[in-house]
Amino acid sequence: QIYWYQNQFLPKDEVRISPEDRGYYFGDGAYEVIRVYHGKLFEADAHYDRLVRTAEAIHMTLPLSKQELLDGLNELVKRNQVQEGTVYLQYTRGIAPRAHSFPQGAEPVLMAYAGDLKRPLAAMENGIRTVTMDDIRWLRCDLKTLNLLANTMAKQHALSQGADDVILHRQGTVTECSASNAAIVKNGRIITHPANHLILHGITRMVMLRLAERLGIPAEERPFTLDELQAADEVFITGTTVEVTPVVSVDGLPVSGGQPGPVTRRLQEAFSEAIRS
Ligand code: PLP
Repeated sequence: QIYWYQNQFLPKDEVRISPEDRGYYFGDGAYEVIRVYHGKLFEADAHYDRLVRTAEAIHMTLPLSKQELLDGLNELVKRNQVQEGTVYLQYTRGIAPRAHSFPQGAEPVLMAYAGDLKRPLAAMENGIRTVTMDDIRWLRCDLKTLNLLANTMAKQHALSQGADDVILHRQGTVTECSASNAAIVKNGRIITHPANHLILHGITRMVMLRLAERLGIPAEERPFTLDELQAADEVFITGTTVEVTPVVSVDGLPVSGGQPGPVTRRLQEAFSEAIRS
């Protein structure tokens, strides 16, 4: 597998990460995961814009232009011969002796790779089981930073309960999942948490809302409660790797009779169509 590390394309074994990289010490950096369909980056502009937004918010200046970055990522896809997969990229603040204060003059460090990943067809077909859990994260969940400890703990909690993922909530208001956004359907309307500081502004969420509009399915971006989640006609999650995946149970109770619902199915079909073209 070929990695892009700083200015070089290298086999994974030859990538040398400094022990003083601030990503390693502090999780001090920004990242993106971009889908590759038919050998092409999906929604690359939106991912780039979000990366820049995160970088600006954490006071980090990206050293490459948009064109340079996207050219490099496309080169990575080509060198790894990825047709259906993902690109991962991260920028850490740089390399410096450990100190909380931002280092003077340190250059952000880029690391990226591309790999094969099939669409999760079985989960998309059959749905996933979820458990609810307190959202213990900080108040800037809109930033895609390397600090993912709470997310990894949440995912592990789900697995320990025999579920596939968590649905997080703050005092009874549903936010999102460990690595995806959550939505419910009630009386034919999609409801999903507003894109504020409490959730990641998912690119797939945005694509889903765009498709819903095109299909004439009404959608509301507003907070919804755990009670609304339990009483929903349908529940689904959206994310770069999971696309639109139905949720068939919450805390052991079935959602929409334990079967993916019709609105979710329409969105899935529209999404499949969108990535075909
Ligand atoms: N929410 C969280 C916490 C995530 O980590 C992700 C993606 O990794 C998402 C939502 C979905 O975002 P996207 O659709 O851009 O992949």
